[in-house]
Amino acid sequence: MTEYSRRFAALDTNVVHAGRPEPSVEGAVVTPIFQSANYLMGDESAYGDLRYARLSNSPNHHVLDARLAVLENTEAALVTSSGMSAITCTLLAFLRSGDHVIAHNSLYGGMQAWFEHEGPKLGITCTRIDAKTAEGWERALRPETRVVYVESITNPLMEVLDLEAIVAFARRHGLTSIIDNTFTSPVNFRPHDLGFDLSVHSATKYLNGHSDIVAGAVAGTRAHIERVRHVLNHMGGSLDPHACFLLERGMKTLVLRMERQNATALRVARALVANRKVRRVNYAGLEDDPGSKIARKIFKGCGGMLSFYTQTAEQAARFLERVRIPIHAASLGGTETLVVRPSRSSHLGLTAEERDRVGVTDDLIRVSVGIESAEELVADFEQALAGA
Ligand SMILES: *Cc1c(COP(=O)(O)O)cnc(C)c1O
Repeated sequence: MTEYSRRFAALDTNVVHAGRPEPSVEGAVVTPIFQSANYLMGDESAYGDLRYARLSNSPNHHVLDARLAVLENTEAALVTSSGMSAITCTLLAFLRSGDHVIAHNSLYGGMQAWFEHEGPKLGITCTRIDAKTAEGWERALRPETRVVYVESITNPLMEVLDLEAIVAFARRHGLTSIIDNTFTSPVNFRPHDLGFDLSVHSATKYLNGHSDIVAGAVAGTRAHIERVRHVLNHMGGSLDPHACFLLERGMKTLVLRMERQNATALRVARALVANRKVRRVNYAGLEDDPGSKIARKIFKGCGGMLSFYTQTAEQAARFLERVRIPIHAASLGGTETLVVRPSRSSHLGLTAEERDRVGVTDDLIRVSVGIESAEELVADFEQALAGA
C-alpha cells in the first residue's frame, strides 16, 4: 500500500515533500505521471474502491490532495480541473434548490455570472452586499440562507474584508463559510486557521504559478471534502494526471515565488504612490490602505496583486503601450508580470455608469507582479508613466 501521509513542520518543507508517495514509485524522486484512465480491478467485492482517473484517485491526485491539505492546514483537500469546477462542486455540495447564499459584490467575474445566471436555474439565489460593514451581512440574512461566500482579496480593487467578523457571522447563524483563497495563497493566509469551513482556489494562479495549466482545489474537514468529492465525481471535474504533475512541480516553488512577489509588489506599490501620474494605488501592504489594518493582523503578506489609477484614461492606455517588461494579458499569479485594464477586460460587460459606480474606470490598471527584478520593474513602470 502506498502512503501519502508524510508531513513536516515548516511550510517551505511541506510544499516540496508533504504527501509524497511512500514507498517511492519505482524509486522515482519525483511523482511520475500516471497517464492511465483505468486500473486493474483487484478484488471484485470492492467495486467501491474502483480506480479511474475521473474519480481523482491516481497517485498524482493523491499526492496533490495530501499536499494541499497540509498547506491549507485542513484534514483534507481535493484537486479539480479548474478553479470554477472547485467552486461549483463546493457550492453544489452545500446548496440545494431553494437555498440562499450571501456574498460580497466585486466577486471574480466567473462567480458573478454563476450567481446571476447558473444559480437561479437551479433555484439557488444570492444576495450580493457591500461587505465593508457588518450590518450588511445581518440585513441580507434569510431563513433559507445556508452559505456565506467571500474572496480573501477582491478583484480588481484589492479590498480586504473583515474576515474575522464574517466567520463570526457565519458561526452565529449556522452557515457554511466558503472563501476563495486564490489571491492570498496558503503562504499568506490559511483560512481554516481563522475558522472558515472551506477554502477554494484557482490553482491556475499562484499554486501552479507558471501560467501553463488550468486547475482548482478545495480544502476543509474530511467530512466536508467527502461531500465535495461525491459531487466532483458525478459532475466530472477531475484534473488530468499530466496537469496534476505540472501542478505538483509548480507548487514546489510556491513559497519562494510568493515571498518574492509580496516584496516586489510592495516596492512597485510604493514607487507608484510616489509617482505624480498616479492618482491612487490599491494594495493592502501600503500603510494607509483601507485594508492594511486587517491585512497586517491576519495575512503574512499582501501578495502580488495590486491596481492603480492614472490621472486620465489616456495615460492608462499609453502606459500599457509603453511598458516593456510586463505582458498585457488577463489572468494572474505567474512568474511574469501582467498588466491589464479591468474596464476593458473583466468588467467589459458592465455599462460605463456601472463601472463608475464600482470604481472600475478606464484609468484603472491591474498588475499581477511576477518574479522579475524589482529594480528593473520599478524603472520600467516609471519610464512608461513618464511618457504616458
Ligand atoms: C481565476 C480565478 C477563478 C477561476 O479559476 P479558473 O482556474 O480560471 O477556473 C476563481 N477565483 C479567482 C479569485 C480567480 O482569480
